[in-house]
Amino acid sequence: MAFLKLKNNFFIFFIFLIFFNELVFSQCIDYFDALDHEVKRNVACPLVTDDPSKYSRRAPSSYEDESKIQITEFKCNNATEEICNKVKDTILIAGKIISKTFILKSPIFLSVNYTNLCVVQPDLCKLQGGKVVVIGAAQSAREILLLDDDGLSRYYPQSLVKQYQFKKHPEFAPIDIIATFNSIVNWHFPSDSDIPIQPKQFDMLYIVLHELMHGLGFTSNWQNWFLTGNKNQILITSKPDVVISDNEVIFDEFKETAFDRHLIFNSNYKNLSPVTVKLNDFANPGTKFKNVTDLIQNFLNSKQVVIAENMNNISTTFNSLSSYPKSCYTERAILETTLIPFQNGQSISHFDQSYINSPDFLMTTIQVPGKTLSDLVRQTGATSPIGPKLQAIMECLGYETKRNLIPYRPKLVYPLSGKS
Ligand SMILES: [Zn+2]
Repeated sequence: MAFLKLKNNFFIFFIFLIFFNELVFSQCIDYFDALDHEVKRNVACPLVTDDPSKYSRRAPSSYEDESKIQITEFKCNNATEEICNKVKDTILIAGKIISKTFILKSPIFLSVNYTNLCVVQPDLCKLQGGKVVVIGAAQSAREILLLDDDGLSRYYPQSLVKQYQFKKHPEFAPIDIIATFNSIVNWHFPSDSDIPIQPKQFDMLYIVLHELMHGLGFTSNWQNWFLTGNKNQILITSKPDVVISDNEVIFDEFKETAFDRHLIFNSNYKNLSPVTVKLNDFANPGTKFKNVTDLIQNFLNSKQVVIAENMNNISTTFNSLSSYPKSCYTERAILETTLIPFQNGQSISHFDQSYINSPDFLMTTIQVPGKTLSDLVRQTGATSPIGPKLQAIMECLGYETKRNLIPYRPKLVYPLSGKS
């Protein structure tokens, strides 16, 4: 039996086909659940022109003082009002840290859900060694396909696309980042600073900041998308872009994220993107398959299956892959490739655990309890919770900083014209 890690669910896959002469569309994917990346919908977002008066209503002086990261939706269950307020305050502090490092020209809107995941999704809350597995998660609410300077189109998080300030841009969803935090975790909040953090407590600021970096684009599409049912055959590919309907599956290439543009093999410093190009020899864009099983079976019978098996070997071997945004800064960060088997959302999408003792401690896979964000900054000799390697990666994605005033900017993918 074969599964694609995409549920064939009625509300997941459909495309809005709006046919107007004047409208042109971009390719977007909307996500609805920070914990489940399969709950998504392909949307054709029309190109729109921003209303310039939109952000100029506030006085610039007071606006500059604010965090550019705002909570637009806030759900807080199974918690007292006092705790809910502490959660909100923590997120706002994390937003200020981000706004201090990155010059955000457009505000970023968050939807935050603070809830007891052990009640809502018990499968995510199994204890491992006495620790809750999922403590928090964040995800870009909309990913937008843009064209990079190497000729490949990749998915960019909406938070970043907003910063490019394109005159015409794919329509934005009302929310930029969706985030969930588990209320069962024994949290230590920044406002508890007079009470020392306990050994088993997690500093919420540390976790929120980590998760928001994922939401801002620190995430890889190199994952285990094709589930074969054979645990000895794990296939790691960039993301197969597919549109699934009741009677067919349309394949539209393997696609990377913006983050993936800078991934290299440590063995030869070559980029991973040519592997995506080779994987795309599997089928032309628009190739139709009967269903998901048929798609996976065809992939298993293809020459490209060897590439995917090899990528699994590489991404489960220590010190195999790095993020190396050399076109911006010569900071190379070894990525997490020690988890066996490969873990979606963890493998590749984090720094190697050894960085926990360095100024780049923030994006390791395992966050340490019993330490606050400021403890870690102090102990590692960092000057900011956003370490130099992390900052370089985000700058090279296109976030502006004081030292990176003209950031890289991809282009809009040649738009698909609507027909009447
Ligand atoms: Zn993470």
